[in-house]
Amino acid sequence: MAQPLARDVAEEIAKLHGVCIRPVALRRLDMTTGKSEVVDVPCGSPLESKCPPCAKRNRQLRMAQCREGWHLDEEPIITPDEATDGQRWLVEFRADMQAKRDEEEKAGGDTSDLDAVLTGLDVEINEAGMRGNVLGRTGSKRVRSTKRRQDAPDLPKRKMASTTLGRTFEAADGRTYRPSLFVTLTLPSYGKVMNGAPVDPDTYDYVGAARDALHFSKLVDRFVQNLRRVAGYDVQYFATVEPQKRLAPHLHMAVRGTLPRAEMKQIAAATYHQVWWPQADEARFEGDRLPIWNDGYVDPDTGEVLPTWDEALDQLGDEPMHVIRFGDQVDVKGVLAGSPDADRCIRYLSKYLTKSLGENLDGQAQRDHAARFVDALRYEPCSPTCPNWLRYGVQPKNAKPGMVPGCCRSKAHKPEHLGYAGRRVLVSRKWSNKTLAEHKQDRRTWVLEALGQADEPTDPHRYVWQPVRPGDPDVSPIGVRLLRSIAERQRWRAHLRRLEELSATPQAA
Ligand SMILES: [Zn+2]
Ligand SMILES: [Zn+2]
Repeated sequence: MAQPLARDVAEEIAKLHGVCIRPVALRRLDMTTGKSEVVDVPCGSPLESKCPPCAKRNRQLRMAQCREGWHLDEEPIITPDEATDGQRWLVEFRADMQAKRDEEEKAGGDTSDLDAVLTGLDVEINEAGMRGNVLGRTGSKRVRSTKRRQDAPDLPKRKMASTTLGRTFEAADGRTYRPSLFVTLTLPSYGKVMNGAPVDPDTYDYVGAARDALHFSKLVDRFVQNLRRVAGYDVQYFATVEPQKRLAPHLHMAVRGTLPRAEMKQIAAATYHQVWWPQADEARFEGDRLPIWNDGYVDPDTGEVLPTWDEALDQLGDEPMHVIRFGDQVDVKGVLAGSPDADRCIRYLSKYLTKSLGENLDGQAQRDHAARFVDALRYEPCSPTCPNWLRYGVQPKNAKPGMVPGCCRSKAHKPEHLGYAGRRVLVSRKWSNKTLAEHKQDRRTWVLEALGQADEPTDPHRYVWQPVRPGDPDVSPIGVRLLRSIAERQRWRAHLRRLEELSATPQAA
């Protein structure tokens, strides 16, 4: 360790051993012993492009979570959303760190380390809070005129039973079967596509594709609502949003329980979502002629105050800005609990989870296609607060000085998201008894048990965590830190192997 290893070499070795390559260093003060040391925390990124080992681990956890809930035969016991001590602690700690970061920024200092800490904490908090508000969004509180309220689609409706379990079937041989569904939902066509790129880019409906991607998660919400109404029970699902080759998001969904295939197709066909936003087809302000801030945005020529977001909503006509539906391609597959088929579906479901939506571009034609998609997204309003509304003569919600259309910084406009900024994994509240954090804990407990060590719950107040200052002498060069983690991983592996060998050796009489 005397010679610091080149970072890229250490990274390659770390990847081979499944060790995080972008660890976040934190100073940990042990309140019991008074000891203070610098500890590396895994970055936890779900994306391979950021950290392959963490992405792989994340995908495996998701697969375990999917498997756990798919064919449950007993109602999961859900203790609802009350924050655990651990969660509360995480949130409080994050608030402290945010305050420190803001102070640092005010003082003109370097905030990059604190930003890294905050990012890591956000991942932890999101995972800890996975159960609960599953789709992570709440509907608008505005009361809309009945004229604009979305009709319930024309679908059969069963009486609601208070169960989350699907039906079982008994076969002639007396065995009980527990069938479930694997569903794939796709967006409509925007023009003919070959090898993931439009045959005729000039007629390909990029605006339609962009708006569909932006509102895709709402359509999924609607689908679940309709599915439950038709099924007549509290249907549970584990779904992933993944990119198609043409770069549109689509949905794979493991559904607990079963419905007739024709009914699933009927539900998909009847599901739609209307976007009641102001128009965004004709630009009123562009180039150098942009609204200016004068305690609110005003027309640069006349000084007339632009309608605020709420005023613009009050003035909406009878037509929604956009209607999103699924395409004709609906794939419904019956799957039996515990079959190799079920395993195959779970692998398929998580196949692209480690890739961002706009990754994996194949050839020049597809790269051009992605670039045109990003162009179409550039001036498309992504949310009520998007600065792009200024282009269409409306003040964004919570307008503030400095907003420039075409320069929205939210995720949806970025090449790696291609319009879809929502969660990649959607898990219904009563899928299994466990959150992702609990699945993680399972693995840890398993390893510790195998090693013959008790897994004592850690006291959330035992440690005080602090970000490390740039140039902290206790933070070794990254190559050394990676090597240290690799050595630790190897020790665990060797220990586990020895235990396995011991249990495999026939006992001498
Ligand atoms: Zn990592
Ligand atoms: Zn935006």
